[in-house]
Amino acid sequence: MTDEGAVRVLLLGPPGAGKGTQAKLLREEFGACQVSTGDILRRAAAERSPLGEKAAALMAKGELVPDGLMIELVAERLRRDDCLAGFILDGFPRTLDQAEGLEGILEAMGSKLDCVFSIRVPHDVIILRLEGRRSCKVCGALYHLVSQPPPRSGVCDRCGGELYQREDDRVETIRARLRVYEAQTAPLIDHYRKKGLLKEIDGVGSVEEIRGRMLQALGEVGA
Ligand code: AMP
Repeated sequence: MTDEGAVRVLLLGPPGAGKGTQAKLLREEFGACQVSTGDILRRAAAERSPLGEKAAALMAKGELVPDGLMIELVAERLRRDDCLAGFILDGFPRTLDQAEGLEGILEAMGSKLDCVFSIRVPHDVIILRLEGRRSCKVCGALYHLVSQPPPRSGVCDRCGGELYQREDDRVETIRARLRVYEAQTAPLIDHYRKKGLLKEIDGVGSVEEIRGRMLQALGEVGA
């Protein structure tokens, strides 16, 4: 771990592996900032910013937003003060070029990664998970129609916001996202294994079980 006890970790895994859920829990546990590129892009798309307009069509098809844009976006986000307390990267990097971009950003900041989690979940489990996923339009809370249904159908229990299904959580797009993951992102597992940073986590189980596995692995790297 770093001198200040800040955690600097990266979550790798196919869509639906639980990266977003676990990143939120790690953020709460360590007071680190959560940098979720998917959330940033969805917000930009909702606000119809120039970045959002560009990203929306690619996201709807399950394709990746160009590396240069993503690297700039993450560089700007990591330089903000709240990341001094550590950061949890969720959904970035997704290509080897992005991983190299991240190395440059961290080097320029005098920072480094403590560990990279690879969350492993079989594709059939992912499809069941993502098809049933619902999120709150207002606060982003996550639900699942089968494993974590909202008490009132279609309504967020936390803030009363409306729940919706992400456009890219429909079966055909899920399959496209899995293909993109295998072709472009899975090679990062080996990249980080070679650097001695990789911790493989079994991503099948309850949210609490997976959280426990990650905290144990972080303990092993000295958190
Ligand atoms: P996620 O919420 O992480 O599953 O991301 C949703 C979508 O946002 C992806 O399918 C991509 O279209 C886009 N996206 C998110 N992060 C990245 C990234 N690091 N590089 C390229 N595209 C991304």
